[in-house]
Amino acid sequence: MSIASTPPSFHRRPWLHAVPDRLPAVVRADLVPTLSGDHLDHANLDHAASTPALQRVARAVETASATYSSVHRGTGWLSRVTSAHYEAAREEVARFVGAREDDLVVFTRNTTDSLNLLARALPRDTDVVVFSSEHHATLLPWRARDTHRLPVPATPADAEALLEDALRHLPRGTARRPRQALVVLTAASNVTGELWPVERLTTVAKRHGARVVLDAAQSAAHRVIDLGALGVDWVAFSGHKVHAPYGTGVLAGRRDWLDAARPYLAGGGATAAVSERGTRWTTGAARHEAGSPNVLGAVALAAACATIREHRAVIADHEERLTEALLTGLRAVDGVTTYSLFGEDHERGPVVTFTVEGLDSHLVAAALSAEHGIGVRAGKFCAHLLVDALLEEDDADLPHATAVRASAGLATTEEHVERLVRAVAQLAAEGPGAEYVEVEGEGWVPVDDPRELDPALPW
Ligand code: PMP
Repeated sequence: MSIASTPPSFHRRPWLHAVPDRLPAVVRADLVPTLSGDHLDHANLDHAASTPALQRVARAVETASATYSSVHRGTGWLSRVTSAHYEAAREEVARFVGAREDDLVVFTRNTTDSLNLLARALPRDTDVVVFSSEHHATLLPWRARDTHRLPVPATPADAEALLEDALRHLPRGTARRPRQALVVLTAASNVTGELWPVERLTTVAKRHGARVVLDAAQSAAHRVIDLGALGVDWVAFSGHKVHAPYGTGVLAGRRDWLDAARPYLAGGGATAAVSERGTRWTTGAARHEAGSPNVLGAVALAAACATIREHRAVIADHEERLTEALLTGLRAVDGVTTYSLFGEDHERGPVVTFTVEGLDSHLVAAALSAEHGIGVRAGKFCAHLLVDALLEEDDADLPHATAVRASAGLATTEEHVERLVRAVAQLAAEGPGAEYVEVEGEGWVPVDDPRELDPALPW
């Protein structure tokens, strides 16, 4: 029996299962110049800030561009195609976050925008409970007089106890004006990469009748989000941290507070009827998406979500190996301190924040880039209260009390991590290999830099 005459059924094609799942490919960066005149493969250890686009995302944008037309209100065929792309993107995102039947998926600009939208939609008399360790996007949008900030917890059990205590002591309101509560949680810390005990904290919140919003900016690329399974009410995340471009984010979750709130932006698309007598606003996602939407951004985000969903296992495996290599490599370097919120062995994503004894973290980051072609982030990572708390424990005299963050992902290879560990060891032992000066507004820059920043413009 020849294969040509009887094609095997899909289920019987053994080679489909034998082929190992491959890491989804990202659009490759060029080689980057170093001070020595070499050009090196860019060691991308800055995924926690923004992730490079997936090739599939770039292709999806190109494909959708070919039929790009007006959205929602046009009657031409291409308008209908474009509108279908936009709404299908919403459905893909709903799948990605495990949305419940009645949940909304609102397209926003990013996580900051999503959390500000929710903050504006809070019913009057809502108390907000938030840990001080949050990213500023998650810490700051809430009305100050109703916000209860909890200290940076030392352990997951401590976090639970702090939340329990805060919820128990919230003002009760009256029968006529009952108060509600919203607990703001983060799935993974952008400073230490550690996973927060979201399930346990949500259980505490629910016990007190509080709602929960989850900042998944740092976890969406690495861990499954399942609104239904977690019992979380809303989730927010950003396209540019899941291998889609900047400019698209998501707020997904319960519709009641969103439908009852004033539209986030007033304008076309958010209205049900407009007359001289007044405006009736529509409900659903459109209520908060006034103006022409970012269709290509939504398509790109959906392509990223679909790709991540399909390759979860292989991505997790890749990141686990890199996380282990980062942690063991950096911890073994004399003069390097790595930081953790819940203890060194707590589960974390591929993020390690560290300091090098006696060296300003911004100088470390500048030298890693200029001498070794490595991209990391230095500073307080928009989480000042957490970084202050972490650094004080170990070394209050650290220059400027900032840290370096190395964060791996799909564009990171094992060689990148090895290069980072070698370079950090060299810095810790001998200091930078070139001379640097601190320039106002620019930070540390090499004194004699032969490289000229004159990139070819992409248009
Ligand atoms: N929350 C966390 C945990 C983050 O890491 C970030 C981005 N650094 C944000 C929120 C804000 O995301 P965006 O800048 O995309 O709004």
